[in-house]
Amino acid sequence: MPIDATQPYDDNNIFARILRGELPSKTVYDDEFALAFHDINPQAPLHILVIPKGAYVSWDDFSARASDAEIAGFVRAVGQVARDAGLVVPGYRLLANTGLDSHQEVPHLHVHIFAGKKLGPMLAR
Ligand code: AMP
Repeated sequence: MPIDATQPYDDNNIFARILRGELPSKTVYDDEFALAFHDINPQAPLHILVIPKGAYVSWDDFSARASDAEIAGFVRAVGQVARDAGLVVPGYRLLANTGLDSHQEVPHLHVHIFAGKKLGPMLAR
């Protein structure tokens, strides 16, 4: 079910539980501000999710409420994950679904990194 990006943060969402170590993840990056792990249902040969450590529902919530340090740390982590995976030369795509029309399903901000093939048009036509 898509979520409303303005809903209050749900402490029991799947990514909150991954952050608390209650659910497993195939982690590729972990620092003070961000955790990155493989998507459980990959939509590209490489599909990684990067999430902030803080409790933010969406890009909207994060960009409005997070501290400058959290925003800088998260943005730098996304870039670092892509560099660590060797994606700069072949290229990659970032996606952050936000709210109902985007079909955001997990109510904790996550940036998708897609890579590993020609990714085609930006949106289905
Ligand atoms: P979105 O539609 O942008 O909210 O994307 C949510 C993503 O989370 C989907 O690509 C799911 O496959 C992924 N996902 C859901 N549960 C897990 C999990 N336990 N571990 C890794 N990825 C997950």
